[in-house]
Amino acid sequence: MDKIFENKVALVTGGAFGIGKATAILFARKGAKVAVADWIEDSETIDIIKKEGGEAIFIKCDVSKPADVAEMVNKTVKAFGRLDYAVNNAGIEGVNAPVHECTEENWDKTININLKGIWLCMKNEIPVMLKQGKGAIVNIASIAGLVGFPGLPAYVASKHAVVGLTKTAALENAKAGIRVNVVCPGVIKTPMVDRVTGKDKTVEKAYEDMEPVGRMGQPEEVAEAIIWLSSDAASFVTGDAMAVDGGWIAK
Ligand code: NAD
Repeated sequence: MDKIFENKVALVTGGAFGIGKATAILFARKGAKVAVADWIEDSETIDIIKKEGGEAIFIKCDVSKPADVAEMVNKTVKAFGRLDYAVNNAGIEGVNAPVHECTEENWDKTININLKGIWLCMKNEIPVMLKQGKGAIVNIASIAGLVGFPGLPAYVASKHAVVGLTKTAALENAKAGIRVNVVCPGVIKTPMVDRVTGKDKTVEKAYEDMEPVGRMGQPEEVAEAIIWLSSDAASFVTGDAMAVDGGWIAK
């Protein structure tokens, strides 16, 4: 595999499972040293990277906690000396309930992790990249950041806000050599979607039928888009909200 990220450093939040795990592994396969951050330590991401000859460290971090996020970025720079790529991916689905039944607890938790968490990550990552004069950030929103989803008010609000926040960060840093983009995945077969479907075949089939391509995406397919947006191949792309969604929002 082409080691396009040789001597580069990538930080991936929510790297223990799902899209974050696939992204961390792909960064390592392409030569990057990877900091894998998550609030759950029990994951095989680091083992897989090391077994394949890559370099990675695990950093325990709750992205909604300011001190954790500052420490996460500090530890990455301390371990590897720089920060070239940041993928702010950690997120939760929240509890399913319509706007008038969404609890304050669900609202606050979902917004704090999915939105405040991404702001906190960029708040700490951008100063490091400004000093280097270069960097690329990919935030993870959702198709729920582009269209509405009944029953998911806090999730949809958080993901729409991440799209706007990404565009603002992109404009603020465009002349400083830092590109900021956001990926909006469709339905991807990860532990999050397994929790939503309960692995019920009928429910899974219903989601597959809603995807124009007739199937769910794989985390590796989202990772490929994240890697491309991070790489110099995307040197003229910033402030973009890229759907990786099997055609969902084209409907
Ligand atoms: P997942 O639940 O499978 O993995 C999410 C990871 O984030 C886990 O490792 C989890 O421990 C971690 N995490 C959650 N909250 C955290 C916190 N506060 N601090 C640190 N780590 C935390 O989910 P996924 O499907 O891989 O989703 C990854 C991202 O993609 C999320 O932002 C999600 O909203 C988004 N997304 C997923 C889908 C999908 O269909 N799977 C679709 C659109 C968007």
